[in-house]
Amino acid sequence: MSLKDRRLAELRARIPEVGPADALALQSGGALLVDVREDEETASGSPAGALRLPRGFLELRIEDKAPDAARTVLLLCAGGTRSLFAAEDLARLGYADVRSVAGGFSAWKAAGLPVEVPPQLDAAQRERYRRHLTMPEVGEAGQHRLLRSRVALIGAGGLGSPIALYLAAAGVGRLTLIDDDRVERSNLQRQILHAESRLGQRKVESGRTALLDLNPTIEVVAHDTRLEAGNVLELLGGHDVVVDGSDNLPTRYLVNDACLRLGVPNVYGAIFRFEGQVAVFGGAAPGLRPCYRCLFPEPPPAEYAPSCAEAGVLGVLPGVIGTIMAAETIKLLLGLGEPLAGRLMLYDGLRGEFNEIAVPADPDCPSCSNGVTAVLSDIAAVCGG
Ligand SMILES: [Zn+2]
Repeated sequence: MSLKDRRLAELRARIPEVGPADALALQSGGALLVDVREDEETASGSPAGALRLPRGFLELRIEDKAPDAARTVLLLCAGGTRSLFAAEDLARLGYADVRSVAGGFSAWKAAGLPVEVPPQLDAAQRERYRRHLTMPEVGEAGQHRLLRSRVALIGAGGLGSPIALYLAAAGVGRLTLIDDDRVERSNLQRQILHAESRLGQRKVESGRTALLDLNPTIEVVAHDTRLEAGNVLELLGGHDVVVDGSDNLPTRYLVNDACLRLGVPNVYGAIFRFEGQVAVFGGAAPGLRPCYRCLFPEPPPAEYAPSCAEAGVLGVLPGVIGTIMAAETIKLLLGLGEPLAGRLMLYDGLRGEFNEIAVPADPDCPSCSNGVTAVLSDIAAVCGG
């Protein structure tokens, strides 16, 4: 008996093996099925719903994927040998119930059990997103999720610029830009999406040019129009996240109410001189319940609202706030961390200080409290736009 055979016999005596059909039944019952073959092997097919984690990364990443060491873990390789060795490693790591699928993927396929072909990143995508792929929290699955995502961005101005650039760079598959302005020279002090060479162009067209130059593999949909009660549902519908980079209160109320109606999270940000604020509002998830109207029930009287054109803003400020909005958007798309919901983050640029205040859901909120369906309406402009 060779050393390897002796070692295998020893492993078989200790590691429980299950047949493919039993593995499928256990998987349906909540066990985690892990395909430990290399990416080149799983490219042509892998058990449906399996976690694909090559043997070399197994011990490094399994805890992120299966934090509960009591959960049953089923390991599968090509023929049932590598999975035995891998099972021993996981048992040593502290997993209480690790089993190896006898006969591996060949037996799985021969039994006619469900197989899926995982979507593949091509070589250029692999290179472009390498810094995402090496992070276990994103990885190949997360990158695919970003590539399948659809984000609507209202405003291709100060806040919209860093938001659009970072979402495009991250590989958000479809970006919808909504704005009805033209690029003016006075925009360029902060609106880094645009350029001197594109003065006079529609902002959504100038924005699309810049974004596709940065990442030609995504889709950028340009709507050269102003959001109104009559078009807001159509324009925002079908997106995973809405990002409100608008600079006026009527749009914010409209976007808030439309997002509640659509059940889509709304990433909000605002800037004024040296200060800014960011929050995530109302989506389908109950945790995101407080909405913009819970925070600001009604628009302020016109005399208290600064004229947007005259207010002034330090050029870098939208960069700080917009970048945080982009980070919150990517977290929502990937289901990572804790969204900035139920809290308002405040930034004071002069003091160099971040603060946070709690935003409780208002039980009498006219938009999001129980049984209230927001009525979409255009509010008269309270600032110069
Ligand atoms: Zn509310």
